[in-house]
Amino acid sequence: MPDSCLSIDALLERLEHRTKFHAGYPYNLQIDYQKILPLLEYMLNNLGDPYVEGNYGLNTKDFEREVIQFFANLYHLPIDDTWGYITSCGTEGNLYGILLGRELYPNGILYGSQDCHYSVAKAAKMFRIPFVEVQSQNHGEIEYSSLRQALINNRNSPAIINVNVGTTVTGAVDDLSKVIQILEELKITDFHIHVDGALGGMLVPFIEGAINIDFSKYPIGSVAVSGHKFIGSPVPCGIVLARKHQVKSSDVEYLGSTDTTITGSRNGLTPVILWDAIQRRQHMFALEVAQCLQNAEYLYNQIVATDQFALLNPFSTTVVFQRPVELIVKRWQLACYGKIAHIVVMQNHTRPVLSQFLQEAEIKNPYCLVV
Ligand SMILES: *Cc1c(COP(=O)(O)O)cnc(C)c1O
Repeated sequence: MPDSCLSIDALLERLEHRTKFHAGYPYNLQIDYQKILPLLEYMLNNLGDPYVEGNYGLNTKDFEREVIQFFANLYHLPIDDTWGYITSCGTEGNLYGILLGRELYPNGILYGSQDCHYSVAKAAKMFRIPFVEVQSQNHGEIEYSSLRQALINNRNSPAIINVNVGTTVTGAVDDLSKVIQILEELKITDFHIHVDGALGGMLVPFIEGAINIDFSKYPIGSVAVSGHKFIGSPVPCGIVLARKHQVKSSDVEYLGSTDTTITGSRNGLTPVILWDAIQRRQHMFALEVAQCLQNAEYLYNQIVATDQFALLNPFSTTVVFQRPVELIVKRWQLACYGKIAHIVVMQNHTRPVLSQFLQEAEIKNPYCLVV
């Protein structure tokens, strides 16, 4: 390696600044994991199935199973039919859930709306599943009549359907009960519903009137959630849940475990990170969600009050608005889609932070600001 002008001290300084001016991505940056630091002295690896101990002893599968159990309870998945694992991110959860659908229905066709996360199309490509992209409504929710027509057009093939609980761009929530009603009306019985709840999966259980991801009420097959979004984590991670009786596995003698997960080696640190967050904050999740919703409404109202375009979907903390000038986009690390941008209001976006953003975004000559 050549001599480097980089240093970890300078990196820390940059990260501190970049944390203060972050608004675009749905990451809870308010994290405190001091307790986890001593674990960095160990090579943790949860390789193989979380429910099969395996030969490698430096694992945290007992913590992993408790995190899975927390989510199983949240989504009313019966204990004796619970399976899941801590993934490397929400994308891996989507890959897993959609692959599970294909394992159950090798001739299945994958359906998802235009507003699906790009990992859904990626899963179709990786696993060679025919993919039918269904139209969305303007606010990002799937267009039910288009879904219905697409299913009629392919009536003889099983359906693997990706349902969004919080789309990436506008935070729109697809109506699970409507999707299931369409399947019933068309008498389609061979289907697998995968729910992508990357962010929304941690919002809807705590919002009154929202449709929860409910395994006991709806015939859902799998759910993926990102761990580093609402819960927050210093490294990306995620959770995927499935019904145990549908999960196929193959024994691997070398591991002393079974090969049920997408990757081989798996992060042993993230289960403890999520476990610790759940231990400390599970009784505050509802309050955190309520505060994010209130602050999102505040941001939305402030923008609308200036006669500018804004969008805030029900059961969502994502405020969409017109793309501001490039300096503001850079300074606040906004994710943009053509002419629109959004702020996903998270726990660290307090009123003062949002006010500062609004003030800066309105400055006629923002070039006085530092990126
Ligand atoms: C963020 C997101 C994902 C992907 O999650 P990662 O953890 O970034 O891989 C999937 N679906 C939706 C709707 C998302 O917003």
